[in-house]
Amino acid sequence: MDFDTSVHEHFMREALEQARCAADCGEVPVGAVVVKDGQVIGRGHNRPLSAQDPTAHAEVLALREAARTLGNYRLDGCTLYVTLEPCTMCSGAMLHARVDAVVYGAPEPRTGAAGSVLDVFGYAAINHQTRVLRGVLAAQCSALMAEFFQLRRLEKKAQQPHPLRDWALRNADEAFAGLPAWPWQPQWRSDLPALQGLRLAVVDEGPEDAALTWLCLHGSPGWGYGFRHLLPDLLAAGHRVVVPDLPGFGRSDQPKKDKRHSAPWHLQIIAELIEALNLRRLVLVGQGDGGRLGLAAAQALPERFAGAWLIDTWPLNTQPQQRQQWFEQAARKPGWDVASAMAELDGSSNAEEACAWNAPFAQPGHRAALKAWPRLQTELAAPPADLLQQWAQADRLWLQPAVTQQPVSAAQWQAAWLQAVPQLAAQTRVWRQTQPGAPVPAAQQGGGAAAVEYFAP
Ligand SMILES: [Zn+2]
Repeated sequence: MDFDTSVHEHFMREALEQARCAADCGEVPVGAVVVKDGQVIGRGHNRPLSAQDPTAHAEVLALREAARTLGNYRLDGCTLYVTLEPCTMCSGAMLHARVDAVVYGAPEPRTGAAGSVLDVFGYAAINHQTRVLRGVLAAQCSALMAEFFQLRRLEKKAQQPHPLRDWALRNADEAFAGLPAWPWQPQWRSDLPALQGLRLAVVDEGPEDAALTWLCLHGSPGWGYGFRHLLPDLLAAGHRVVVPDLPGFGRSDQPKKDKRHSAPWHLQIIAELIEALNLRRLVLVGQGDGGRLGLAAAQALPERFAGAWLIDTWPLNTQPQQRQQWFEQAARKPGWDVASAMAELDGSSNAEEACAWNAPFAQPGHRAALKAWPRLQTELAAPPADLLQQWAQADRLWLQPAVTQQPVSAAQWQAAWLQAVPQLAAQTRVWRQTQPGAPVPAAQQGGGAAAVEYFAP
């Protein structure tokens, strides 16, 4: 090459100028100029995205312009300056154009065809020889690329504030679109320390300074949807309603391994959520084992709770065989149909609601929580007898059996509660009757309105 270093650097700066144009357009910042007799006769910057053209590399565009300037497809006596080591296509194009020399800045270790991955210019058998000069203003050329990709990563991160952990799975939003009686969009949060980056779905409706906040906690295999008929009544009373989906259920992320699930972990997440949202004057609405987890949270944070309404919550760690079998089937059978199992409990079934129950578990591998649940049930803390008695005496406790007599009868269920908390024997007002229709009584049955009246501060 006949030019000295300062001449090469001068033209590389022109190529860098082109590269910045590419970056401004959101293209990978690569720029090129073609020089003949000390004059720039062609310029180009990367634009495959905007041109929708896989061949629209900076070098190709600069070669085309140079050929037009010269009125000749041969570019004898020309030097091409490019900020990044050319790919095979561009190197080939330069050979076809009979470019004298190529000068590049930064090496491209993944696709570079001028020495890095392969060396298209190094074959003596190819009849035209193009000389190669490497590393001119390499630091500046590399910095421009690094800056561009860093910015793009930050933008991507800003668009996706809750990245999916590699140990977790996520259901598509579309699977939960348009469910009947469920217009509520969750707020997503992954900032609670116990979540370790998992995305948690939390429906949070109503005013922050409400007289009461209803914390609705589902059990397995349900999710917040089970409370759909309650929300309108509670919100109509001016109250706040907070409905999280526990990890592994509903719209929250699901750990791939059942070992991730434990009762203390779920409890920690619930407690951290209560503190993060600064929830006070809480009434726990617990369905199934969600009631047990909620009671453990109330025991840990008693000053934040005003009472509880527990529906189909089994109070003992030993359970009747039918109940145990029900959860073991859910755990063991990968094809266990959640919707028809829920319909049995519910006493009703409807196709749209079946979609809601099956949606969280529709994908293969999305059942770690179901698998973990029988073990998790043995880890639940005993119900806090003193707290329950205190609530019962203040008319702040409702205990309600399952809608149907499945998998345990109402009599079995009540006997279990009296075994767990004998003091409740004297509290006749805590026992609620259930009407068929939904795991949690429907609005039209007055469940929500009656609760508002009973628990009113
Ligand atoms: Zn190329």
